[in-house]
Amino acid sequence: MDRSEYAIAAERVARLKTDFDVTVLADWGDDVSVGDTTWKAGTWSLAELERLRDSLSLLADAMNGNDRFKSNLGSVTVKKASIGSHGGEAWRGQVTFSANASFTPWTVVHEFAHIWDEYNGWELSRRLEKFTGGFTSPLLSWMRKFFRLADLNGFVRADEPGKRGRKPGCNRSGYFYGDKPSGSDWNFNRVEDFAESVAMYVGWERNNALSDHARKRISRYLKSNGEKDDLFGTLDNWADYAKFFYPEAGDYTKTKRWRFVEGLMKEISEIPFSDISLD
Ligand SMILES: [Zn+2]
Repeated sequence: MDRSEYAIAAERVARLKTDFDVTVLADWGDDVSVGDTTWKAGTWSLAELERLRDSLSLLADAMNGNDRFKSNLGSVTVKKASIGSHGGEAWRGQVTFSANASFTPWTVVHEFAHIWDEYNGWELSRRLEKFTGGFTSPLLSWMRKFFRLADLNGFVRADEPGKRGRKPGCNRSGYFYGDKPSGSDWNFNRVEDFAESVAMYVGWERNNALSDHARKRISRYLKSNGEKDDLFGTLDNWADYAKFFYPEAGDYTKTKRWRFVEGLMKEISEIPFSDISLD
């Protein structure tokens, strides 16, 4: 951030607070600690403040307005920090984006979905797990790995096709996902499932900043084994994995996850969940 951008940045930060109860911890500004006043540029750009607002608007619109967003997520703090290789983290009402790379709209919605879940005692991801027919069993997972039934290198993942732990129960957590998520790997669990399901719902066929990512998450299962996907350039056996992930006729709205999030969005719009036909 340049000093000349300070006023616009301050206005954008103020609007994030008003519209979403989101507090951005500014890492830019005047630094007086060395005697002279020097400008500290920080890691944020004006474009990122705008991207944050636009991405939050997509989630808030899906929730039927900013008031619903605020009452379902509570106060949220956003900062940047060095957090290793992943793009974001969400914990205790705080979202952290990597200071080393810029965040995407997908990451924003994903991390704020975690906050939504957390603000509800992690109950939303439990409900998703149940609704989609999944369960978490470290014991069954261990057995699957022990009997070499997992798409792993023994008990752990390997960075090669067919060994990233995408099949049900073959992840670190022993999460046996039900129905068809848009993807899964070694780090998958019900909490990640919920966040990804919300991002898929917000993006799927809506022609917004998440839609391209959402489409590519599904279309990769039409690829042949050994091809690279269009999102991360990952080589994998996509054709083999299609039966776990590719929705009926390629239509993600036919999945239980889409229906669950749709129901949740209606529920927080104060229509009782039980009044919604879910299948
Ligand atoms: Zn996550």
